[in-house]
Amino acid sequence: MTAAVTTDIEAVIGLEVHAQLLTQSKMFCGCSAAYLAGAPNSHTCPVCLGLPGALPFANQKAIEYTIRTALALNCEIPEHSKFDRKNYFYPDLPKGYQISQYDLPLSKNGHLDIDVEGQVSRVGITRVHLEEDTGKLIHAGDIHTSTSSLVNLNRCGVPLMEIVSEPDMRTPAQAREYMQRLRQVLVWIGVNDGNLEEGSLRCDANVSVRPRGQKELGVKVEVKNMNSFRAVFMALEHEIQRQSAALANGEEILQETRGWNEGRGVTVGQRSKEYAHDYRYFPEPDLPPLTITRETVDRIRAELPELPAQRAKRFSETLGLSAYDAAQLSADRNLADYFEEVVAGVGTTHAKEAANWVIGDVNRVLKEGEGIAALNVRPGGLAALVLRKLDGTISNNQARDLFAVLVGSGAPVADTTAIDHEIEARGMRQVTDDSQLEAWVDKAIAAQPQAAEDFRGGNDRAVGRLVGAVMQASGGKASGPAVSAMLTRKLRG
Ligand code: ADP
Ligand code: MG
Ligand code: ZN
Repeated sequence: MTAAVTTDIEAVIGLEVHAQLLTQSKMFCGCSAAYLAGAPNSHTCPVCLGLPGALPFANQKAIEYTIRTALALNCEIPEHSKFDRKNYFYPDLPKGYQISQYDLPLSKNGHLDIDVEGQVSRVGITRVHLEEDTGKLIHAGDIHTSTSSLVNLNRCGVPLMEIVSEPDMRTPAQAREYMQRLRQVLVWIGVNDGNLEEGSLRCDANVSVRPRGQKELGVKVEVKNMNSFRAVFMALEHEIQRQSAALANGEEILQETRGWNEGRGVTVGQRSKEYAHDYRYFPEPDLPPLTITRETVDRIRAELPELPAQRAKRFSETLGLSAYDAAQLSADRNLADYFEEVVAGVGTTHAKEAANWVIGDVNRVLKEGEGIAALNVRPGGLAALVLRKLDGTISNNQARDLFAVLVGSGAPVADTTAIDHEIEARGMRQVTDDSQLEAWVDKAIAAQPQAAEDFRGGNDRAVGRLVGAVMQASGGKASGPAVSAMLTRKLRG
């Protein structure tokens, strides 16, 4: 008998995401939170430098942003919360401790729904709490051979939110999707800039493996250093393979922190993971406990915008769009707003047409890193353009060409007047005049008697040959919809 090969292994993933909050000032002092601006160590004061005797005070905006986030993630907001000291030594943390939250976080018990290729699942959010960022070490030269390091404390004390998920994910694709949905929500509600590359949004992935069907969780490994969605996916793929092989070979998996080495495509052991009790958490004595009144929670809840998932749902339910289109249009709040304004201009019966334009031609011209807010063709301009296509003034191809030309020109186009002016100026107006059309149509019927006969006999496809003949006779100036209507009237009416 051969030993059972443990191929049926399941991975378990939980993410800890850190998001810097878009506040003006730092978490516990009045220093600017714009840590990339200004000379190294210029955005510092006795509080964020951790000088003895300096007293912290909490940033109210940061607390409100955290509650805003927690509500967007369906969390409960307890009435009582507090800050705690998490003690550890690191050269970029001059205080010797980080002010964080331990047993009374600002929020808990939320969830975020994810959709991987139509498979919807719910990821529990354990908690969203508030803490402060550390400074940054810059190692001179290569990190492995460097003999000196520099420290920049501008980032020290920047408000940092930690969003901890339940170990509810099972695949790297789910983890990537969770990260993408989370980023979408954070950017949408205006609390974070979503920049994984610069580290204002960071992800630590906890992952373990177990034989499928086993209830107990396996020993988890924490993977750090992933600064793109792709890296989250790749690092987890690799780590799951590594752990699965170890499990299959009966090797022990150590609880540790590993770093993702993008260049080599592997995770590398960094340190054995510490436990909560190693940090000697205790209540921060320099800050009063927080009482979050129900009025405050209600106000922040009322200020929340319609969220991306709700927006997508409304788009598909009230405008009849596919789930796929609706999701694309809700990828970004400005894009969704733009689309809705186009729909308002063309009418909801043409929502699908508007969606095709926004997802297609509009999305294509958006420059990398430049949102739709900067696009010169405003929703009113696009709506006017689409209407001129729908009423046959210009053809679909002409509409698309004109759109490209207008975007290229960079000049603002916001309404019907501007669009009509452009159509006129470029001689694009299609002929819809009946007597003129009739001459071309009659000529086409005479030239294509078989097609005319086929169409009269009920063959719809035959109209294509006739329209083609009209287009040829008119030099492309005849309005397609008007020609079709006239052919139908004449041959079938
Ligand atoms: P720690 O105290 O080590 O930070 P936590 O219990 O706070 O551990 O969990 C941290 C993260 O790890 C959470 O996102 C959680 O979902 C995830 N996690 C916990 N246990 C496991 C496990 N066995 N496998 C995978 N992820 C886990
Ligand atoms: Mg933790
Ligand atoms: Zn300061």
